[in-house]
Amino acid sequence: VDFAALFAAGPIGSIVTDRDDVILQVNDAFLAWTGYAAERLIGLPLTRLMPVGDRILFSTRTAPLLALAGRADDVALAVLDPDRRSLPAWLAASSVDGPAGLTVYTIGPRRERSDEERQLISAVHRAEDSDDRRRQAESSLERLAGHDELTGLLNRRGMLESVGTGSAGRAGLLAVLAIGIDHLRVVNESLGREAGDEVLVTVAGRLNRVAEEIVSNGGNDVVVARAGGDEFVVVLGARADGGAGPVGDSVRVDPAAVADRLVALVAEPMVIEGLEIVVTASVGLAAAATGIPLASGIADSGVESLLRGAGTAMHEAKATGRARWKPFTAVSDDSVIDEIRLLGEIRTAIATEQLRLEYQPQLDVARDRLHGFEALIRWDHPDRGPVQPSGFIDVAERSGMIGQVGAWACRSAIEHGRALNEAAGGRRVQMSVNISARQLSDDGFAESVAEMLRASAFDPSLLTLEITETGLVTDADDARANLARLSALGVRLSIDDFGTGHAGFAYLKDFPVDEFKIDRSFVSGLDESAEDTAIVESCVRLGRALGIDVVAEGVETAGQLERLTALGCDLVQGYLYARPLSAEAALALVLAE
Ligand code: C2E
Ligand code: CA
Ligand code: CA
Repeated sequence: VDFAALFAAGPIGSIVTDRDDVILQVNDAFLAWTGYAAERLIGLPLTRLMPVGDRILFSTRTAPLLALAGRADDVALAVLDPDRRSLPAWLAASSVDGPAGLTVYTIGPRRERSDEERQLISAVHRAEDSDDRRRQAESSLERLAGHDELTGLLNRRGMLESVGTGSAGRAGLLAVLAIGIDHLRVVNESLGREAGDEVLVTVAGRLNRVAEEIVSNGGNDVVVARAGGDEFVVVLGARADGGAGPVGDSVRVDPAAVADRLVALVAEPMVIEGLEIVVTASVGLAAAATGIPLASGIADSGVESLLRGAGTAMHEAKATGRARWKPFTAVSDDSVIDEIRLLGEIRTAIATEQLRLEYQPQLDVARDRLHGFEALIRWDHPDRGPVQPSGFIDVAERSGMIGQVGAWACRSAIEHGRALNEAAGGRRVQMSVNISARQLSDDGFAESVAEMLRASAFDPSLLTLEITETGLVTDADDARANLARLSALGVRLSIDDFGTGHAGFAYLKDFPVDEFKIDRSFVSGLDESAEDTAIVESCVRLGRALGIDVVAEGVETAGQLERLTALGCDLVQGYLYARPLSAEAALALVLAE
């Protein structure tokens, strides 16, 4: 029998993918239905054929199901045709056991059901359910895609993109202003949410007005965005024509004058639902060294660090009485520091003990007791003060220096883990350490951890290594060997920022995973977003099904905690319970338990 010909001629659309969900084969029925040519599809990830909302649902629901049970059916989704139009589709899939990890999908058109049919088949409830979730996922992804629905301004992501590609990015950044509306909550509570929304829309209009003034006066590039909630951002670029000429010449607007103008303009009375009210704004200003063109690689971090600075300054403005602006005063700007110099400084930091660890507690809610700690690195820089890991871990990773930094962190965490367990007098206190992909691909890694465990006589099963999904996907062979070795010792493996990678969960079959850490971005959406709630829920379920612990990170509110416990997630970590603590404070916490 010529199976290849039979496959090609099969009556329903069929696709075969490999273990990474990359399309290997596609049959004629599928091509005829969608209008693709086979060459265009082969080699593409299957998810590329789905609208973004379906991609998320596919990777959080269908893919894990397939990895576990080997099959999935009755999945309602849409397939994009070559013109990116959505075709409603049904999908079923089964995986073939074997080294290639092949999966065969049948995908065919989906009819909308009549009302009677709907009533009849309440058993197929799942389908509607997933349609609904898809719609929700899609609408929030539209937002992710760049715009704020309410005000029509760019959102945070849209702003970052626009700054990266626009002349503000090319000509050099001048300043970032973070604008927080004071007491918006009071407006919401006393006049209602619609009134609050109206305030935001009015403020957005005023910010646009300021932007127009700047553009017409100075020709500087301006980006206005709503950063979320009651926060707006104005990014000032150097002159829009690229700022040729001396630096001073390209600066036609004075950021301080813009800050003055913003504070004054927001504070002008506005009429909301027939009432004249006055709202004020607190503004933080972070200015960059002008005339420095941002190399493409650091364009983002340039804006990001200015954003952070402006945010800090805005909080200061709020703290010192609101309705005013404050400049951000920092010794120097992270992004401008020469990477080479930073590397030298990291080397000194290790040698001269400028590094230290903080320990953030993890709580077992069901048992109402301390579960353990996550060790987080800190750098007390002699001139620059505390440097957050985001300011140097990347650089250390790119240079390979992470090997030394990571080894230091691991050893210190194990040593303190032992002290904590001694203080706990028989109760077990887990210790988690972050490991970067770079470390895992070093073939001596497992052995060095084993050596540290021996040196401190630390029970390996009290040590958890946190690794991101991407860490498991790249350099998989070395990682596999290291993790197999560590797992044999009893060391636990945790997937950090779970749900954010697009790894498709196939690695769950290959690696001895003991724990998921649900990313803060999903946890923080628990209060308001159905999509985030659905994602958290499916992570918890997946953990349950596989006997894997699930830790929610970044738990900040009682509402989130309540949702999490309701969903069956018992391990939590976050500011609600505790910030990262000094070694002494962590010890005191254990003693007090
Ligand atoms: P991560 O592993 O995702 O660590 C969690 C981060 O979230 C920590 O930031 C923590 O302070 C913060 N966090 C915890 N609870 C909350 C909360 O309720 N709200 C908010 N907003 N944040 C919360 P941190 O300490 O700045 O660390 C940032 C990242 O740096 C870590 O992300 C980790 O990827 C990396 N990192 C930290 N220490 C090490 C280390 O020793 N080695 C390596 N390779 N990476 C490290
Ligand atoms: Ca972590
Ligand atoms: Ca994390």
